[in-house]
Amino acid sequence: LEKILLKTPGSVSAIMIGARWEAVVKLLPPGGVVIITDNNIQDIYGSRFPDFPVMVIKPGEESKQLKTIGLLTRELLRTGMDRSGFLLAIGGGVVCDITGFLASVYLRGIRCGYISTSLLSQVDASTGGKNGVNLGVVKNVIGTFLQPEFVICDTIMLHTLPADEYLSGLAELIKTGLIGDKTIIEILEKNYQGVMNRDMQLLADLVARSVKYKASVVSLDEKEGGPRRVLNFGHTFGHAIELHESVKHGFAVASGMQLSAGYSLAKGYLDRAQHDRIINLLNMYGLLVNYNIPAGTIRKLILNDKKKSGRNLHFVFLERIGKALDIELPVEEVVEFYRKNKI
Ligand code: ADP
Ligand code: ZN
Repeated sequence: LEKILLKTPGSVSAIMIGARWEAVVKLLPPGGVVIITDNNIQDIYGSRFPDFPVMVIKPGEESKQLKTIGLLTRELLRTGMDRSGFLLAIGGGVVCDITGFLASVYLRGIRCGYISTSLLSQVDASTGGKNGVNLGVVKNVIGTFLQPEFVICDTIMLHTLPADEYLSGLAELIKTGLIGDKTIIEILEKNYQGVMNRDMQLLADLVARSVKYKASVVSLDEKEGGPRRVLNFGHTFGHAIELHESVKHGFAVASGMQLSAGYSLAKGYLDRAQHDRIINLLNMYGLLVNYNIPAGTIRKLILNDKKKSGRNLHFVFLERIGKALDIELPVEEVVEFYRKNKI
């Protein structure tokens, strides 16, 4: 079991990896707990949930809307939850995002913790305290920063995850390896079978590495004013692709990383051998899909991305595997690269 403490101004969050999720009872107050989950998790794990009221949302991104917050708030009021209450999320990124946001606004804030059940949320989304909902198709525009008291990442739960969700999470794991911990890349290169078999020990090691790196970045820069930006590697193109193609986040980010690695090579930041190694790894796990999106469309989507500031944006390049470079440059230059090199 690994316990990683994420310290930010005003809070400490304990991220536990390799622990069995059923042990969560030891971390909960004796009463006043409400569990929030989705139908899929409820069907598989619901019979083993601790004995508290359960509120179930529909699986998927469509639930990440203010309407869900309204419905859950009404239900919480009905259970009589007061400011001493505790919300426990059991689910992937969607459930954790909704629970975190709700906990930060319900009666101006109550306690919460997460059991993070998807690979994507274990390696990325549940560390860092970002939460929120979408407004129509605009993602995560309404939300807060709130560090949950704990996050449990039990890699046994990943065995029931659908294959495409698992691969999508792997892409985000590769991202962390590329920007910060090259050992992740080495492990993924050498242990294809173990990774595909979802070997629980191997995954616990990988999740722990990813969380450690992310926690180190977030503790320096919780609100994304500087160092945290490297976590967006692959996401400038990735978000645009995701909006246009409605593919799973990780697949869009994988293509975004392919483009960003190519861009890093073209700029002379990254050498050919490292570039090819990255493309090989993304291919080995079947993460690269070809999209045919016109440059003009990509331009529009990038300009709409909330992370842009004026005519420039922060683009994350790679200097080598394990080291990212955050560089501000004109949006038009990024679009021009895409126009000439689109896959
Ligand atoms: P994210 O990929 O951000 O974690 P979701 O919360 O939507 O997004 O999870 C992706 C899908 O996988 C959802 O349909 C969810 O119900 C399902 N899911 C999450 N964790 C598990 C699990 N351990 N076993 C089976 N299905 C899961
Ligand atoms: Zn991402």
